[in-house]
Amino acid sequence: MKLILLGPPGAGKGTQAKMLIQRYGVPQISTGDILRGAVKEGSPMGLKAKSFMDAGGLVPDEVVVGIVEERLQKPDCDKGFILDGFPRTVPQADALAGTLSSLGKNLDAVISLEVDIEALVARLAGRRTCDSCGAGYHVAYEPPAVDGVCDKCGGKLIQRDDDKEETIRKRMAVYNEQTSPLVDYYRNAGLLRTVDGMLPIDEVGVAILAQLKDFE
Ligand code: AMP
Repeated sequence: MKLILLGPPGAGKGTQAKMLIQRYGVPQISTGDILRGAVKEGSPMGLKAKSFMDAGGLVPDEVVVGIVEERLQKPDCDKGFILDGFPRTVPQADALAGTLSSLGKNLDAVISLEVDIEALVARLAGRRTCDSCGAGYHVAYEPPAVDGVCDKCGGKLIQRDDDKEETIRKRMAVYNEQTSPLVDYYRNAGLLRTVDGMLPIDEVGVAILAQLKDFE
């Protein structure tokens, strides 16, 4: 199962990737998670990425392409992988095609989550993450039992800097300009499968699995 999950920030790519990795036993490769890990560690890559991320912009292609190239070569990707948040630009998609072909692999499908941008802004602005264990919450749709406190570990819930409304608007504009051309890119490659991302989480999952039936 070699998949890309495509869609604007907050479309539910991370949530659906978690469902898919359980179902298919393949790793999720989230460039956003890897970059946030690097920022937290304070590694040179993290230091370079932080300013782009906080401003809602994209980290330079060569940085993220390098991350994904290295990750795809790990043995746990032999059975497949779910790419979440990558590629985000046409040059990244071209680089991915080159990497996969040099590894003798090809993509099975690209799932495009179709969503309403205004609804997404509300979704993203309500997201909270545990500062200690990384568990995700939403103030309206998935609130913790106690305000601001993680149900799982008691850690403090924080809002990602890039989930502030002004930054969210910037991220949506970046998506429209740089990432949305990938919908046609993968449609032309015959790989695109679209799913209504505005349905409840479980129904989106069911719709994705229906699209992937022929690969099982
Ligand atoms: P995400 O969690 O996927 O929304 O990613 C958070 C942030 O990390 C993005 O707003 C970008 O600044 C950066 N990022 C993640 N993936 C990529 C990518 N493929 N290309 C460039 N920047 C990325």
